[in-house]
Amino acid sequence: MVHCPECETTLDDADDIEFVETDSSIGFIKASKRFYTANCAACGRTIGSGVAGAKGNGGAGAV
Ligand SMILES: [Zn+2]
Repeated sequence: MVHCPECETTLDDADDIEFVETDSSIGFIKASKRFYTANCAACGRTIGSGVAGAKGNGGAGAV
């Protein structure tokens, strides 16, 4: 079980975590990959992040 370090919300459900696809316009990310951040749904704090390849592995295994 994961707790948000910011607001201490318990993040035990996918609904408690917000996966945000970061736009490639940031610059250091190649177009062939998609970068995700996992944010607390309550306060928006970034909990984790990951990169999902073009093969489509779901992108949800980063937390
Ligand atoms: Zn939070």
